[in-house]
Amino acid sequence: MQDTFKHKGLRQQLVNILVNKGITDKAVLNAIGKIPRHLFMDSSFLDHAYQDKAFPIAADQTISQPYTVAFQTELMEITRGDKVLEIGTGSGYQTAVLCDLGAKVYSIERQQELFKKTSKFLPKLGFRAKKFIFGDGYKGLVEEAPFKSIIVTAGAPFVPKPLLAQLEIGGRLVIPVGDNVQTMTLFVRKGLKEFDKTEFGEFRFVPLLEDKN
Ligand code: SAH
Repeated sequence: MQDTFKHKGLRQQLVNILVNKGITDKAVLNAIGKIPRHLFMDSSFLDHAYQDKAFPIAADQTISQPYTVAFQTELMEITRGDKVLEIGTGSGYQTAVLCDLGAKVYSIERQQELFKKTSKFLPKLGFRAKKFIFGDGYKGLVEEAPFKSIIVTAGAPFVPKPLLAQLEIGGRLVIPVGDNVQTMTLFVRKGLKEFDKTEFGEFRFVPLLEDKN
């Protein structure tokens, strides 16, 4: 499977759609304009890769909608070299965006099939996360904490305490919170026990599930 001029053209159209929907971060738009999303999808969805939609991947999971990826990444305010934790590796598309922005990415996936597939696939495309972890994101990754930012890419019924605890001061947690529909929520750590919370619009994610599978 290749990345052709046709794919590049479709990606530019997708970038324009995201700009029209309000995404302004140039580095995020640049990453989405560069990363071959079609290579992260099952062959049956290749024609749809550059629509602004979520699509099924293996193990009943989904590759997030590009707008959602852009929105969450923008909220993380990444600077090159940031130590970042991602919960829900999935297809690895969001991971690739974070790598492209120069983040040192630790990515946790609870689904073994996806963990294996994506941790092999991403380096082949040239995206080198610091570490892929097969585990339960509810617990975060205490041995690598603190993180500059943490992104959760599955719908969390509540905010897991370990994730707040593993943020550095000034660090940012971007997490969709809710059962059927999720409210995108940003926590910024102001002090040891002090967090600023801001809520954004509604999104729909597959659920954040406990324990590995
Ligand atoms: N960013 C991914 C989103 C995949 S969907 C992409 O765009 O492809 C959400 C992912 O979170 C799924 O792969 C699911 O298996 C994973 N997940 C759900 N609960 C989890 C948990 N507790 N810990 C780690 N990963 C989890």
